Parts: sequence; structure tokens; C-alpha cells
Amino acid sequence: MVKKVLFAASEVYPFAKTGGLADVAHALPRALKNLYDVTVVMPLYSIIDRNKYNIASLGETLNISMGGKEYAIELYGCTVEGYEYYFIYEPMLCDRKFLYGTPKAGYEDNGLRFALFSYAIFALLKKKHYEILHLNDWQCALTALLVHKDPALSPKIIYTIHNLAYQGIFDSSILESIGIDKRYFTMGSLEFYGKVNFMKAGIAYADEVTTVSPTYAREILTGEFGCGLEGFLHFHHAKLTGIINGIDTDHFSPATDGALISPYSDAKGKKANKSDLLKKLALRGINKPLFVFIGRFTSQKGIDLLIETLPKIAALDCNIALLGEGEEHYHEALDVLAASHKNIHLTFRYDEVLSHQIYAAADFLLMPSLFEPCGLNQMIAFSYGTLPIVHRVGGLVDTVKRLESYQEDSCSGYGLIFSTPTSRSLLSAVNKGCELYEDKKHFERIINHNMRCDFSWGESAIAYGALYEKEKDIDA
Ligand code: ADP
Repeated sequence: MVKKVLFAASEVYPFAKTGGLADVAHALPRALKNLYDVTVVMPLYSIIDRNKYNIASLGETLNISMGGKEYAIELYGCTVEGYEYYFIYEPMLCDRKFLYGTPKAGYEDNGLRFALFSYAIFALLKKKHYEILHLNDWQCALTALLVHKDPALSPKIIYTIHNLAYQGIFDSSILESIGIDKRYFTMGSLEFYGKVNFMKAGIAYADEVTTVSPTYAREILTGEFGCGLEGFLHFHHAKLTGIINGIDTDHFSPATDGALISPYSDAKGKKANKSDLLKKLALRGINKPLFVFIGRFTSQKGIDLLIETLPKIAALDCNIALLGEGEEHYHEALDVLAASHKNIHLTFRYDEVLSHQIYAAADFLLMPSLFEPCGLNQMIAFSYGTLPIVHRVGGLVDTVKRLESYQEDSCSGYGLIFSTPTSRSLLSAVNKGCELYEDKKHFERIINHNMRCDFSWGESAIAYGALYEKEKDIDA
């Protein structure tokens, strides 16, 4: 019998996406499809186009009692390309303009909203039988505690940390309104420097804890990257595994990508896309290297470094295109730079189609991240024949090999790597990129090599399958 898996996440592509979690929640269940019967569950945010995906009420209600209040959760569902999705609808959780908050701040009631999401997952688990429960990030971590408290339930629980910087930390007064007894307000459970930490529930009560790259799994055990949870993770490190993310190679395929004016399968095929994008962004010079950045404007992504270095990069004979959204002060600083340099173009929004066009057109992708649990952009860049320039950290260490060590017969992707997060190091890597760009034949050789490499979920899905099958430690 194929085992049933309930895979829960707060965002899933194509329904709602702010970053890599949505990509993973889209692609990993698909990669597991031949081995498991996977159902994905997420909130039915009001921004989701129900008609587009034929999302319909399943006529079922999950009646939830949380902190003395009753919530009637409506269950919705749809099937996309043979994959089954469940959606949780409740106004407090779903009726917002943004998923988690405005560009200024997170919503104040996020603790309540996502505790309710966790209760809904728990109710679903009780109603329909699943052997495996795969929870992702802090937004559904409390489910692990709810399952732990219920002796009638014993699914195998996998908890995946996509980014330790977001733990879901709230004032201790929240305990009452989310119906969690004070006896869980301990160091071994939810307590975190006098506050309540949702992520700790996932770590404490899951059978297996994973994070999204082997290097990040090691880094988060240190004070530098552990965000205050390094000691707690150390305590649970026997059940911690780093499994590198993959990308959906059907969705991110330049040969079949409907977003591109001219789909392609080798370095030469990029030119028509570059020409099209430059025109669209009013940038000039098809023969100049095009450096791009795509991502959230937040300090994690190295935006301070980027802002400091951009004027120096712009002084080189090149073009720069930036696509992202995020913190307002970064937007303002980048706006000033774009206004004062005619070879810098800034698009401040989330735009899936434009992002594909930029990956296709670009020569180099800048990823100066201060920390990076896995990073998907560099793998997407490889697939689209764009050379990543990355800070040597987290999943970037596991996925990008130094160009200087290039070997034709290797199956690794190559890029330019800098080891210290300083403007000088970033600029030096960019300069190397410019030199490489002049050596057209070698540059094309590397690009074509990278495009042939496999960044699919294949091996990583097998690694998750092995964890799903691992015997539960009943003493834990
Ligand atoms: P994160 O830390 O944001 O999760 P990842 O590298 O794991 O970063 O994944 C980022 C994903 O989001 C990639 O698919 C990237 O192309 C996409 N992305 C980020 N910002 C934007 C944007 N403004 N428009 C379109 N796609 C974006």
C-alpha cells in the first residue's frame, strides 16, 4: 500500500508565493508522487484566484476550538495536473492583502492566524488518515505539538526548516488565546527568552528535522547562524539532516518556457532574450555583460552590500537589472541608485514571468547573501545559462563550485565565489566576471556545461523518502 502523506506549507506555487518555500512546496510533493500519495494543504488566501485553479468547496467544515473560541474552517480543494491540494479557509487567516504582512511590518495577529492554520492541519489529520505528516517552517510547526498531545495520533512527523531567521516568536500572553497549556512554556518546549517560539514546537516534537542544505544544517548549530536556537538544535541534532533543495526542471526550463520570446537550449540561444529584455527595460548594449539580482529586498540577501557596491559595478561597462520587493528603505535606496545610473534598472514587485525573462537574458546573477539556507536562484540561473556570483555560505557552498576548478566531465555547476561579505570581494568577483565575459569561447563552454547539469529533485526526493521510511524513535 502506498503511504499517505499530508504536506503542509503556508505558501505553495502557483497559488501563492513570496519565496523559495512556495517553489519547494510545489516541486517536492510532485517529485515524491511515484512513491507516496501526497496531499498538499495551505491557506486559501483571498489573493488566490479560485476560478483559475478550479478551487471549490469540499462541503466539509473543520470545527476548531482554540483558546476558548470556536472557528468553523471551510475545506476547499482542487486537482492540478493530477496533484491534489487542500485549502483551509477562515477569514482571520485568509482575508488579507499580503500573506504575512505589509512591506513595513508583519501582521500583528500572525501568531493567532498561523496557530489556527496549525489547528486546521491537526483537524485534517484526525479526520483523514495520513501515515506521514510533513510540516514546513514556523507557520505550521505548532501542529507537531498538537499531535504530540494526542495519544490517538501517531503519524511520522517530518519538520523542515526553510529559514531559521523566521521562527514565529510571540509574546507569552498568546498561549491562552492559542489554547496551549503553560506547562509547554519551558526551555525544552516553546519558551524562548521569555517569549513563545512556534518553530521550537516543530523541532521538539517532530520525529525528523530537516533543513534545506547540508552546509546550512551545520551552520545553524553555531552562534553565527543559529539565531539563538543553536543550543536547542544541538540538543536535537541526532534527528537533524540537511537535504539540498532541487528545482522543478519542467517549470524552470528555457527550452520550453512560455514566458520567453525565444526558448533556447544553449548559450547562443540567450541572445534574442537578452535583446528583448534590454529593450523592455530601456537598457542599451547587447554586447555588454548583464548583471542581475532577483529576490527579496532584505538584509539576508546582502542588499546592503549590493547598495554599497552597485555604483562601482555600474561604473564598469555593463548593465544591471534588479527585480524584487521587500523592505521600504531598501526600495528607496535602490530607487535613488537606479535614478542616478542609466545602466541600472529596478523593478519593484513580484513578477514570475519577468523573473524568467531576466534569468534567460542575464549573463551573471548576483547573490551576495549574508546567509542562505539553500537558495534556488543559483540553480535556476544554471539552468538558464546564467553564471552565478555568490557569497560562500549555506546552500551556495553545496551547489556552486569554483570556476577556477572547472572540469568538463563533472556534473557540478560552476560560478564565481567570494568568501568575505565585503564590497571589495563582491566587486573583485564582478571584475572576474567581466574578464570571463570577454573570453567568449570559455564563457560559453562553462554556460553550456552548467545548462546540462541536473538540478532536479530526483536525489533529494529519495533522501526525503528515506526519512519518511526511517523507523520512529519511540523513546524520543
Ligand atoms: P527565499 O529566501 O526568498 O526563499 P530562494 O532562493 O529560496 O529565496 O527562492 C526565491 C524564489 O523566489 C526563486 O524562485 C526566485 O526566482 C523567486 N523570486 C524572488 N523574488 C522574486 C520577484 N520579485 N519576482 C519573481 N520571482 C521572485
